[in-house]
Amino acid sequence: MNAGRIFDIQRFSIHDGPGIRTTVFLKGCPLRCLWCGNPESIDPKPQLSYVADKCIACGECFKVCKPNALSKDTAGKAVVDRARCTNSGDCAPVCDPKALEMVGRDMAVDDVIEVVLRDRDYYAQSGGGLTLSGGEPLLQPEFAEDLFHAAKNHGIHCCIETSGYATWDVFERLRRVVDLWLFDFKETDPRLHEKFTGRENQTILERLQQLHDAGAAILLRCPMIPGHNARKEHLDGIVALSRRLPRLGGVELLPYYDLWRAKLKRFGLTAHLPESVKPPTRETVKSWNAYLRDRGVRVRG
Ligand code: SF4
Ligand code: SF4
Repeated sequence: MNAGRIFDIQRFSIHDGPGIRTTVFLKGCPLRCLWCGNPESIDPKPQLSYVADKCIACGECFKVCKPNALSKDTAGKAVVDRARCTNSGDCAPVCDPKALEMVGRDMAVDDVIEVVLRDRDYYAQSGGGLTLSGGEPLLQPEFAEDLFHAAKNHGIHCCIETSGYATWDVFERLRRVVDLWLFDFKETDPRLHEKFTGRENQTILERLQQLHDAGAAILLRCPMIPGHNARKEHLDGIVALSRRLPRLGGVELLPYYDLWRAKLKRFGLTAHLPESVKPPTRETVKSWNAYLRDRGVRVRG
């Protein structure tokens, strides 16, 4: 069976599909959304995470780093030179307090299923199950298919969260094992879509239509980013899209949140979204939802 490149497994998730779920996050994404909530998910390769607050200045990591990517600050704590670091991971096992850790590891289907099955009673009580997220889970279709097959053998409900940016044969392959598609739609205007995500939206819209016409259960999820796609024109685009897709299970707006900024330092990454972009107020989110409802859109949340 295939292994998947995973960067996190979250048990007791309540925002990634119906009920209580286990969400498995796969590493690697073809998009570059400016507001990506999981910046460590984009690169398909494992990455070094460093949390300086956990460093106890023991000095063990300096002994094993071959490219000399680690130096000491005045307190003896490690400083990572990202230009030199090759993400070899040699330093992580010697760091007892886990200030240094590698994020992204290959896990076999059986090992993931073992984690998923731990909460099967909760799934049964809440109508929950397993969700594959990322990153972009469609980049690892063999693993996704095997994992979902294994989950279905245990009667577990299967969701996938996707940007939709993949070839149709990947959707075809997974259609039989996915119970619910959480399909992201990020921007109506093609030029802005490319500016915000690094990719055009034509492919994504074609896949959405194909998936809908094939009879798949789909929930459209729309991240709303103030000063970017949180505009009347995009809300109107969501209305038009939901009218073209009459069997859509609904639309869920995902208000921007900025917790991802705290992760950047851990991975030596830089933000591409201005600091001035702030999460919307509750009232603003309510007004967006009302705007859609008034135009006949079945809004979730
Ligand atoms: S991951 Fe490898 S190259 Fe990077 S700091 Fe650790 S030991 Fe050095
Ligand atoms: S091994 Fe870990 S705790 Fe020790 S100096 Fe390096 S980063 Fe700090």
